[in-house]
Amino acid sequence: MKVVKLDPVNPDQDKLLEPAELIKNGELVAFPTETVYGLGADATSDKACLKIYEAKGRPPDNPLIVHINSFEMFFKYTDFHDERILKIMEEIWPGPITLVVKKRNIGDVPTSGLDTVAIRMPGHPIALKLIELSDRPIAAPSANISGRPSPTRASHVISDLGNRIPMIIDGGETFFGLESTVIQPVQDKIFILRPGPFSPEEIEEKFKMKVVLSGTEQHVPRAPGMKYRHYAPNKKLVIANDLDEILKLYKENPNALVLCSKETAEKFEGNKYILGSRENLYEIAKNLFHSFRYLDQSDYSIGIIEKFQEAGIGYAIMNRIKKAASKN
Ligand code: AMP
Ligand code: MG
Repeated sequence: MKVVKLDPVNPDQDKLLEPAELIKNGELVAFPTETVYGLGADATSDKACLKIYEAKGRPPDNPLIVHINSFEMFFKYTDFHDERILKIMEEIWPGPITLVVKKRNIGDVPTSGLDTVAIRMPGHPIALKLIELSDRPIAAPSANISGRPSPTRASHVISDLGNRIPMIIDGGETFFGLESTVIQPVQDKIFILRPGPFSPEEIEEKFKMKVVLSGTEQHVPRAPGMKYRHYAPNKKLVIANDLDEILKLYKENPNALVLCSKETAEKFEGNKYILGSRENLYEIAKNLFHSFRYLDQSDYSIGIIEKFQEAGIGYAIMNRIKKAASKN
């Protein structure tokens, strides 16, 4: 596998010609987005998209997110005309929100046979340039083996998929470290199918529509992927509600690694990995998946992770932590 190193802010366009050529030829290329690294293929080719499922070991009923770089491309591959919502998307995109809408000119492989497509304009110069040079939409789920933590650094992609894909573009650490917020507008409501960097509060504020969290109302649309165990380290992970619980769990498991905030670390003597400050949850989000991979590579037998406030991006952080700690 070839690694192409690029500046994430001012990528050298010449170095993106080869990866764009690979995409055009139906091959896989891993590349950074502002959320996590994606495993990209030509979204207009079922054959190319099938390679994504094979490389990741992804269940075929879990559809992919299609990445675009313009509204022109959006209209070519969707059948969605709600002017009010499109106006808001113009403000938000490029950015970490994925919109699920009726599809057009997109095959059944990237959409798992649904009549909708999950579509997003990524806020990352490398991703946008790669789409532009490939001259087509790029389907890209997170570039990890299915079920593993999403990759936030090129080294994570190399360790999961290094021998399965021809190329990875290394643009350093991704900006958010958590996958996009997936939303679906249905009549006068916005359903949040997967929490992400844009919090439910922010979505409500932006769209001025009733926001419904997936799983809280009967018959709500769902993101098929959310039913799987996800984001998880191979080692067991338990959530501790507060410092007292951390101390109790640590006493029971002296070979544990405590994944915690800097504030907690100041009061805790023992094996610890500092995720960042509780005062800046974006920092915690950015380091979360790396900490899971660090735990797996270490000699510690179990992880104990601090609970974070479920507000703002903290809502998505706790969504990932709970999924990673779940047994199924
Ligand atoms: P990933 O790209 O692996 O981070 O996951 C993409 C997420 O988007 C998964 O949870 C998918 O189930 C969800 N998704 C993709 N396409 C659709 C769709 N057409 N309808 C609902 N959810 C979707
Ligand atoms: Mg994923």
